[in-house]
Amino acid sequence: MTSPASPYVGRFAPSPSGPLHLGSVVAALASWLDARAHGGRWLVRMEDVDGPRTVPGADQVILAQLAALGMTSDDDVIYQSSRHAVYEAALARLTAMGLIYPCGCTRREIADSAPIHAVSGERPYPGTCRTGLQPGRGPRAWRVRMPAGVHCFEDRWLGRQCQDVAREVGDIVLRRADGQWAYQLAVVIDDADQGVTDIVRGADLLSSTARQQVLGQTLGLPLPRVMHVPLIVDTDGRKLSKQNGAPAVDTQAPLVALQAAWTALGFAPLPDASTAAAFLTQATDAWRLRWHIHPCSA
Ligand code: GLU
Repeated sequence: MTSPASPYVGRFAPSPSGPLHLGSVVAALASWLDARAHGGRWLVRMEDVDGPRTVPGADQVILAQLAALGMTSDDDVIYQSSRHAVYEAALARLTAMGLIYPCGCTRREIADSAPIHAVSGERPYPGTCRTGLQPGRGPRAWRVRMPAGVHCFEDRWLGRQCQDVAREVGDIVLRRADGQWAYQLAVVIDDADQGVTDIVRGADLLSSTARQQVLGQTLGLPLPRVMHVPLIVDTDGRKLSKQNGAPAVDTQAPLVALQAAWTALGFAPLPDASTAAAFLTQATDAWRLRWHIHPCSA
């Protein structure tokens, strides 16, 4: 049950590039349970900011899968593809702060000039265009200057996390020359606009959190609490993903999918639950106990 007294707002933010697989159901379920355990609201947001990756109709398939599992958004579903003006305004603010610059480097040039960082496992942008485009080059992307220093945050599942964003990641792209907005900007703006207080998502996004918080801080936005839940990996140890062919969740058998997602989160099965609704009620109670949550407290 949602409670009007709880300020908690959670969200599930799938990219509509195909149907949900078990890994995405784990993120959906964890975020739904945490919202319900707090008596809060749960929103679904379609992250179709990456036009080329978006599969027409996948949004409706995802919403139908979620509904079959007993999870529906407490508010209208927001589509990032309809929010260009909002992202434009955020970029304009950052530009006015002197933090945005055009970058003319190709992927190849960045790969050739910057080694992979030992801690982040990423190739930090070496800052080639920080002081201006190289002669004869046009912009390929717009980047934001990342402040020097280590950014730390408390992850509710994993504990304290720290990253030196400027060194380990470098200045990130917010918009490409073809007009595509970066997920990193869209997610920060949308979470703030939707009043999201709590992000619960898969641990594959843990490494994005520090840069998102730094960006949010720069824009003066409130920072949601975060919890990154374990990923499901295949037999080769790779994260389940649409790219490596993870099968769509069979929502004809919602209890099977819910139990699988639940046990992947490290909980014992709930054998007494005979419907998705009963399962979700029992799981909410167990989630509340596990995280010492008092209903209506955020
Ligand atoms: N759209 C992202 C994904 O499907 C999730 C973003 C988020 O939860 O912040 O991986």
